[in-house]
Amino acid sequence: MSKTNYTKCLIIGGGPAGYTAAIYTSRANLMPILYEGMQPGGQLTTTTEVENFPGYPEGVTGPQLMEDLRKQAERFGADLRSGQIEKVNFDHRPFIVTTDSGEEIQAETVIIATGASARYLGLPDEQEYMGMGVSACATCDGFFYRKKKVAVVGGGDTACEEALYLSSLAEKVYLIVRKDYLRASKVMQRRVLDKENITVLFNTNTVGLFGDEVLEGAKLVENAGTEKEQHYEISIDGFFLAIGHTPNTEVFKPYIATDEQGYIVLPTATTATNVEGVFAAGDVADSRYQQAITAAGSGCRAAIDAERYIMEHE
Ligand code: NDP
Repeated sequence: MSKTNYTKCLIIGGGPAGYTAAIYTSRANLMPILYEGMQPGGQLTTTTEVENFPGYPEGVTGPQLMEDLRKQAERFGADLRSGQIEKVNFDHRPFIVTTDSGEEIQAETVIIATGASARYLGLPDEQEYMGMGVSACATCDGFFYRKKKVAVVGGGDTACEEALYLSSLAEKVYLIVRKDYLRASKVMQRRVLDKENITVLFNTNTVGLFGDEVLEGAKLVENAGTEKEQHYEISIDGFFLAIGHTPNTEVFKPYIATDEQGYIVLPTATTATNVEGVFAAGDVADSRYQQAITAAGSGCRAAIDAERYIMEHE
């Protein structure tokens, strides 16, 4: 198949939303081009077991699930490409989108499925120890912390999942939670609280990290701003962030309306954005559900919306 830089549907993002949109649009003969971005497979490639994706009664690993979705998209002829989108021009159709290698793609419709990226606390020390003890992905980097001491920051499902994963490798895991409760689902909370080598530090914030070149510990404050305020240090070799995500919408902002957190706003009950012919699917437009299955579902909806749009405008 010769390479073309014109498509009826350009899909930006290689996660469950993007691949599902590719499956549907290629079956609808829109001959989609999909750019997979920096992390093909998206966030699921950094998770371990996915137990709640329908159709896998025994569970499936995140990377395997993404590989299955990718293959399914390829089977119907989706043109999957590596690379990022650096610039968009949504002034007129066909839209013009520029990749990081300087190629220009012309597209009649665009489906934005760029997902969201891990958030950091914003401490200067985080940058200093990045890759030297600081990480936002336990499944990527946990291996380096066998029999060591680590901390995970966050109280949601991601933090609990990461703490549990690390507890099977590391000698000791601290879970640093800023409130006095875990936000994670009950089942995850129970697993974490039952685990002997996980200690949950409630009402606690991290104020600094220290170490001679590599990370050696964290400075914490408990009950900040109250009479019981207490500052102390813990010795750790690894510091894992699991405090939520920031949507990857920067490149689209000149055209696409976003909310105060940066998530794409969908003004109607469809996946249409404020720009006609541009649709959004997955976590990039969903601060609420953020599940693989909801991302896949919205990828399907965006594909159907794009197909209808093409039909109406041809
Ligand atoms: P969440 O937004 O659910 O949780 C983020 C956590 O980080 C909260 O405990 C929050 O604290 C804490 N936090 C945020 N900012 C800071 C900060 N500056 N300092 C300290 N703590 C901070 O994000 P998740 O990534 O955990 O989950 C996102 C979505 O994905 C959820 O819907 C979740 O259910 C889902 N998910 C599902 C999984 C599964 O079902 N297997 C696995 C992983 C995620 P606070 O509570 O105080 O706001």
